[in-house]
Order: sequence, then structure tokens, then C-alpha cells
Amino acid sequence: MDLDFSPQDQAFQAEVRAFLETGLPDDLRAAGRRLTSVFVDKKYSIPWQKILHAKGWVAPTWPVEYGGPGWTDMQRYIFQIECARAGAPGLAPMGLRMVGPCIMRYGTPEQKAFFLPRILSGEDYWCQGHSEPGSGSDLASLQLRATSDGDDYVLNGSKIWTTHAQWANRMFCLVRTNFEGKPQAGITFLLLEMDTPGIEVKPIITLAGEHEVNQVFFTDVRVPKSGRLGEENQGWTVAKYLLEFERGGGSAAGLQMSLKRLRALAQVEPADTGALIEDADFTAKLAAAEIAVQAIEMTEHRVMSALSSGKAPGPASSMLKTQGTEAMQRIDELAIEAAAYYANVDQPSAREPGSNVEPVGSDHNLIAMARYLNNRAGSIYGGSNEIQRDIMARLVLGL
Ligand SMILES: Cc1cc2nc3c(=O)[nH]c(=O)nc-3n(C[C@H](O)[C@H](O)[C@H](O)COP(=O)(O)OP(=O)(O)OC[C@H]3O[C@@H](n4cnc5c(N)ncnc54)[C@H](O)[C@@H]3O)c2cc1C
Repeated sequence: MDLDFSPQDQAFQAEVRAFLETGLPDDLRAAGRRLTSVFVDKKYSIPWQKILHAKGWVAPTWPVEYGGPGWTDMQRYIFQIECARAGAPGLAPMGLRMVGPCIMRYGTPEQKAFFLPRILSGEDYWCQGHSEPGSGSDLASLQLRATSDGDDYVLNGSKIWTTHAQWANRMFCLVRTNFEGKPQAGITFLLLEMDTPGIEVKPIITLAGEHEVNQVFFTDVRVPKSGRLGEENQGWTVAKYLLEFERGGGSAAGLQMSLKRLRALAQVEPADTGALIEDADFTAKLAAAEIAVQAIEMTEHRVMSALSSGKAPGPASSMLKTQGTEAMQRIDELAIEAAAYYANVDQPSAREPGSNVEPVGSDHNLIAMARYLNNRAGSIYGGSNEIQRDIMARLVLGL
């Protein structure tokens, strides 16, 4: 893999930098820098998505025919790195990275023509209705019942841990259309509108005190069959395809920024002790984290080239998911160590972009504890890391 920038790549990097310099507003930059979770609030991600959409840069991995920019792997990598460096907020993955590729692969021409432009523009904001109170790792056991009634399905049951359901106007949802036989063979993939009568969204507040996830209740919810993606009882095939995209996707650029922030934090010299960066034990842990992030970057290149040649990332996405989330948690732990007692001062109002509340200590330790708590979820969401290891054992090691 050649990671040296060619003159064309250098020119592209300069173009991206120049665009970010003027195109990324200060409030969104501040929001990106002070992010306490991998899930960016809609109020920050959508304005940035609209700016990128106007520029034609919103969906780096999408084929040109659906609105992708036609970049090479290296250009996508450069874009990702430069956005992270500039502190740009991430974009919500549910539309662009998850349901979008599924619609391209399994959608009818009408579904493609309707949904894909709305995903690109941010007009539609999606949430993912897969997990249920009794079905997470064992997703195929899901029970949300969809009864056929004329041109509609009638839905009853519940979904849980639904990220940003409080803001989404659409959900992609796995429902049970057949209760007999193999569980996987009775699942259907539906696209539905969140304002349909009978849907109720209830918040779940996380350990970090934030509202990201929800439980969603369905009582006699009528969903037109035209919202079905793929055939009835074939939803598991679509879901498996989607999960590879959910697990893949960029993380090294963000991790590099977390490392940079961690280094800055460890360089601060408290009055009573020396700077942590001079402590041999700490620097050994920091070096190990840096090596892990470099390895992730290389894996990410492999996943990106699979995506750009129209292939699903396969088991490499499981590797990326486990390594990425564990590196993130390792960096968070070191940040807590570096922030020391300041990590315990929670200052939500100082974290708001544009706030005039001065952070106690440095800007970096402002978010250390919130990130630590939020990112504990990293090894659970998107399929827990134990399940990812099972997948790798089967698909890579043939066990
Ligand atoms: C912050 C957050 C956001 C989320 N967002 C969404 C969302 O938007 N939409 C959505 O549908 N879901 C979402 N989820 C749900 C997520 O996909 C599930 O939490 C995850 O799949 C694990 O399922 P579970 O919580 O039911 O845990 P369980 O499946 O009950 O697992 C509990 C523990 O047992 C382990 N375990 C289970 N089975 C095995 C096995 N066979 N071998 C070894 N270990 C095993 C697991 O690794 C885990 O440690 C989100 C979760 C979180 C935390």
C-alpha cells in the first residue's frame, strides 16, 4: 500500500484545506472539537451536511451515479484526515453510511429515486430500528410483529437503544412477518415515517447524562408495503449487508485527533507535580495507543478500497470495529489519568459552542469524563465486540 501523497494528492489536500478554512463555520468547528460522543447532535451535523452537499462532497464512498464525488481511496483518506484536523463535526451515519448503501443495492428504481437524494441533502434524518428489549446480539430473535393487512403492514412491539429517534423523521426497521421456521427466514426490512400514528418515542438517558438513545413503541402502526426494502421474509439478507457498513467506516482520523488532544493534556504542568508526558509509564501507554491507531489506519485503507470497488467490507469491518472502539476507550482512560481531578468537574454549559462559560482547567479536560463515559458504549453498539470476535473467528480463522 503506497501512502505517499502524489502531486495530485497534495493539490487535493490543499483544495480541501482551503475549503475547510472558509467553508467550516466557527460554531460547527467548536462543536466538532467539543464532541463528547461519536454521535453528533443533529443541530450540528445537519448544517455541516448541507454545506458539504452544496459542495458535492457529502458522500465520499457513494458511487458517482448516486451523487458520490468519484474520489480515489487516497482522496477519501485525505478528506477524512483534514476534516478531523479542522474539527469538523461528523455526519450522522444512519442515512449516508447505513441505509443509503442498502437502498442502492436492494431498492426499487422508485425507492432509489426518492430516498437517495433526500439522504444526501439531509432532508431525511434516519434512525435504526434493529435492537429490541430481548434481541440485541441475538438479533434474529426479534419479535416486533408486522401483520399483513391489504396494502399495509400493521406493526406492534418495541425497539430499543434507537439512536436519535427523537430527531429522526424516518426509521429503517426489522420486523417479524413470519413466526414459523428459522428465525432469520421470517424477518422483513421496512422503511417507515416516524410521525405515523401509533409510534411513541421515550428517552433513555445515558451514564454521561446525555439523551442519545430511546425506546420506541409501536401500537397498531400502519406502514405501506411500498416501504419494504427487498422481499417479504428476506430482510435478514439486507440487514447483514447493512451491518458490515455499520461496523466499518472512518475512525483513525478521529482517533488521531484524540491522541493529539491527549498529548496536549499530558503536557500541562500542574503546580504540584511534573507534566505527565515526562512519566515513563504514561509515555509507554501513550506509545502503545499510537501504534494501535496506526494499525487501525492501515485496516481502514483496506476497508475503504473494498467500498470503492463496490464490495461490502466483509470481516475486516469487524476487526476495525473492535480495534477502533478499544483504542478509543484506551485513549479515554489515559485522558482521565491526564486530566486528573479536573476530570471530575462536569461542565455541560461550558461545552456548548458559543458559550461564554470559561472551562475549569483546560479546554481538553472539559470533555475527558463525558467522552470516557459515552465511549464505554463503543464496545457494545454496532454489535458487541465479543460478537465481532466470534464473526472473525468464523470468517477469518475458519473456526
Ligand atoms: C449507545 C448505543 C447506541 C445504540 N444504537 C442503536 C440503534 O440506533 N439502533 C439499534 O437497533 N440498536 C442500537 N444499539 C443497540 C446495540 O446494537 C446492542 O446494544 C448490541 O447489539 C448488544 O445487544 P444487547 O444490548 O441486547 O446486549 P446482549 O446481547 O444482551 O449482550 C450482553 C453481553 O453478553 C455478551 N454476549 C451476548 N451473546 C454472546 C455470545 N454469543 N458470545 C459471547 N458474548 C455474548 C455481549 O457481548 C454483551 O457483553 C445501541 C446501543 C448503544 C449502547
